[in-house]
Amino acid sequence: MKLIKAVRGTKDIFGDEGIKYDYITRTAQEFFGNYGYSMIKTPIFEETDLFKRGVGEGTDIVEKEMYTFQDRGERSITLRPEGTAAVVRCYLENKIYAKEEVSRYFYAGSMFRYERPQAGRQREFNQIGVEVLGESSPILDAEVIAMGYSFLSKIGVTDLEVTINSVGEKESRQRYRETLLNFLEPMREELCDDCKMRMEKNPLRVLDCKVDKCKELTADAPIITDSLSVEEKAHYEIVKKYLTLFNVKYKEDPRLVRGLDYYSSTVYEIVTNKLGSQGTVLGGGRYDNLLKQLGDKEIPAFGFAAGVERIMMLLGEDFPKRELDVYIAWLGEATMDSAFKLANDLRLFGKSVVIDYASKGMKAHMKKADRVGAKNVIIIGEDEMNKGVVMLKDFINRTQEEVSIENIKNILK
Ligand code: ATP
Ligand code: MG
Repeated sequence: MKLIKAVRGTKDIFGDEGIKYDYITRTAQEFFGNYGYSMIKTPIFEETDLFKRGVGEGTDIVEKEMYTFQDRGERSITLRPEGTAAVVRCYLENKIYAKEEVSRYFYAGSMFRYERPQAGRQREFNQIGVEVLGESSPILDAEVIAMGYSFLSKIGVTDLEVTINSVGEKESRQRYRETLLNFLEPMREELCDDCKMRMEKNPLRVLDCKVDKCKELTADAPIITDSLSVEEKAHYEIVKKYLTLFNVKYKEDPRLVRGLDYYSSTVYEIVTNKLGSQGTVLGGGRYDNLLKQLGDKEIPAFGFAAGVERIMMLLGEDFPKRELDVYIAWLGEATMDSAFKLANDLRLFGKSVVIDYASKGMKAHMKKADRVGAKNVIIIGEDEMNKGVVMLKDFINRTQEEVSIENIKNILK
């Protein structure tokens, strides 16, 4: 029989990888929780128009990466390629802006993009991300950048570089667009086909092109920084000042434009040189126009998303494997009931416990305890059981002592 395999560009996460995934997402939730972020879960699929209008026509995502299909009711549906548009949709639909001044959300989950699969680039991948809605202060920009950076450092991802830029508001970008187009026009024929299309729809995207020839040709392109207004420059300066205050080293990159249309003002990426051309671990910025675009509201917003698979690759083996508190070794059928009762009690008490269903000899038990990574082994023999005691073996220090069943919970603490 032909075995069915996972679809190209998708990946199962299990075993140690599962522990690592769990470690990353749980730590993120806890860490961002300390800054006042709460969990948001939006649907995996949305109306296609949400992404067309939100992410923007002319972006790689909308042009060639979306999983779009007609459902049985002939609606055009798209599997979410990113998280921000849906969070904003939820925020507007539920009029959350009328209930609180500033909203802070954290999310984690699958995103879908039809890309060429390679290490660190999948068709279904996972992101963790945050969105803050309702706050325009540049201090927030710096705080969120620092939060993402500190999170990555905390879980053990090092050698990261923060690159930042300001792409200004619509008017400045319009000005810059003209300047850039004047520069690009003479080289139009030499640019890649995607860039020719970008020149029509969104010339700034040309600066984001990954093709070497395009990068070379545009190396001396005029920079957006020169087109920023006085206010935009002032905002950017405060972001930089606070990044320094929060001890985040950063590099300014005036070519950084990001791949989504909704950004304005501050944009940034956290990159590594360890993953080749999949080096962006986290990306985000300010998107004050998106709420206008999707709901005609003047509400400022800031956020980021990080690729969990890329973080997992960077962590390698360097993450805490979950340790098992207790392995229970029972010897002889007569001890079985007491052993399972003890396992149940200890689990209710909050301890992690593994116990085997089949009868085993001592040697086999010890082998198993080792394999499951137990910190302690409780050995229940018939004679001891009748006296109300068990043998507690500290599997790390290789010491053991007799303890009463009554007392075992307290000793395990
Ligand atoms: P890239 O330039 O690598 O395509 P992007 O600009 O498209 O990235 P974003 O949309 O900003 O990426 O997504 C944020 C993060 O999500 C990225 O920095 C990356 O870590 C991760 N990511 C994006 N696309 C993929 C993918 N296809 N597979 C795995 N991770 C991804
Ligand atoms: Mg991409």
